[in-house]
Amino acid sequence: MPMFDFVCTSCQHAFEALVRGSAQPACPACSSTAIEKQLSLPAIKTSSTHGQAMAAAKRRDKAQGQERVHAQRQYELSHDD
Ligand SMILES: [Zn+2]
Repeated sequence: MPMFDFVCTSCQHAFEALVRGSAQPACPACSSTAIEKQLSLPAIKTSSTHGQAMAAAKRRDKAQGQERVHAQRQYELSHDD
């Protein structure tokens, strides 16, 4: 049974799946069938790097969001009296 590497285009989750005939596997993380089959190692490396970049961007956005909340809280505290 052939084993293929896939990357989910919805959540960027990379996974391996057995492919039976023309059946399209679904992403184990989000159940999406919007997935891309990875045909070569360079492609896997590229999408893996892309996934890490996405994760880094999400962490950065989250940090900035917390920074904004913190600034707002400081403003409220300093104007409490
Ligand atoms: Zn997914």
